[in-house]
Amino acid sequence: MKPLAVYVHIPFCFLKCHYCDFNAYGGRSALEPLYFDALLADLDSWRDLLGERRVVSVYFGGGTPGDTPPASLAAILDAVRALAGDWDPDVEVGLEANPATMPDGYLPALVRAGFSRVSFGVQSFDPSDLQFLDRVHSPEAAAAAVLAARCAGFEHVNVDLMYGLPGQTLASWRATVERAASLPIDHVSCYALTVEEGTRLARWVTAGLVRLPEADSTADQYELAAELLAERGFAQYELSNWARPGGISRHNLCYWTDGEYLGVGAGAHGYVGGVRYETIAHPRAYIAALLSSRGAGAMSGRPAVARGERPGVRTALLDWVTLRLRLVEGFGEQEFAARFGRTFAECFGPAVEELRAAGVLDATGGRVRLTERGRLLHSEAVARLAAALD
Ligand code: SF4
Repeated sequence: MKPLAVYVHIPFCFLKCHYCDFNAYGGRSALEPLYFDALLADLDSWRDLLGERRVVSVYFGGGTPGDTPPASLAAILDAVRALAGDWDPDVEVGLEANPATMPDGYLPALVRAGFSRVSFGVQSFDPSDLQFLDRVHSPEAAAAAVLAARCAGFEHVNVDLMYGLPGQTLASWRATVERAASLPIDHVSCYALTVEEGTRLARWVTAGLVRLPEADSTADQYELAAELLAERGFAQYELSNWARPGGISRHNLCYWTDGEYLGVGAGAHGYVGGVRYETIAHPRAYIAALLSSRGAGAMSGRPAVARGERPGVRTALLDWVTLRLRLVEGFGEQEFAARFGRTFAECFGPAVEELRAAGVLDATGGRVRLTERGRLLHSEAVARLAAALD
């Protein structure tokens, strides 16, 4: 049976962070009860379109799904189970959570509902970084949340960390990574702060109110994280992700290896039957599309897809290479040729040798991957390959 990952988007957050351009909305929303009805309708609308599938992972992202009552998350999981022809015995069920906003008993309730992985948006263990990021948790609350998750029985615990923050020194970043690695976690994601168009941060940067660090110091922070995490038993498997043995995220791996995934929820992306699609982004419009005018519980019966396309060969090839080069192991040249009917060198010609000569790409022994230096230049490498594709 064909494997399937399922992504469920919950767009509500306690506060909208000033740097965030995700489809997320701050403050508790009166829309939430209807939104969960719409999610159930969304899942149901795929019943006749999916065919028999084996669900290998379910991931609740956001927003902050960890602010959602366990009973609502459990109801959605039940609906995913009902939709799938099969449920993998090693299915991974995960969610993103804010370390500060979970009430007592919340994490054990999630484990009872079938969750096995939790990802905490810790970002930093330095109070001044947390203040800049407007995070509502303290370093102590973040550490306590990790311990509580382990005590509750979560098999996998991830922390997200951020570097490239204004005022963040190499020493404070070192302390953050070391503190994270000292906790009972098996996965770390490190992301550079990026200034996204339309965010409050972008306006502050334009107005000169916030000064970003130099690219060189951000690169130094990335390299330091890689070094510290390797020393502490975390193997890097993707540009931004490190795991202890057994800790690799099965759900994320599906995205990077061309696996199909059903995306439900406002603004979710999906890839089903060779079609990449995006759902209606605004929660109110999403609800309206899925629940008929007869009121909550009455379903329209159609997926809330805003746009979708079956990628042409060129797009599919570039998407595939872009995602595979995110993986430290890269990809096999034979696998590429079997997928596209041409060798990697035939497709990209002199750009391959150019990137090899520049120390960015390693294409030896039948595998193609970015070098350690190349991991800092993924976008540039992909742009060079795209330009060379005839
Ligand atoms: S908590 Fe996460 S999803 Fe929500 S606004 Fe902040 S960065 Fe965005």
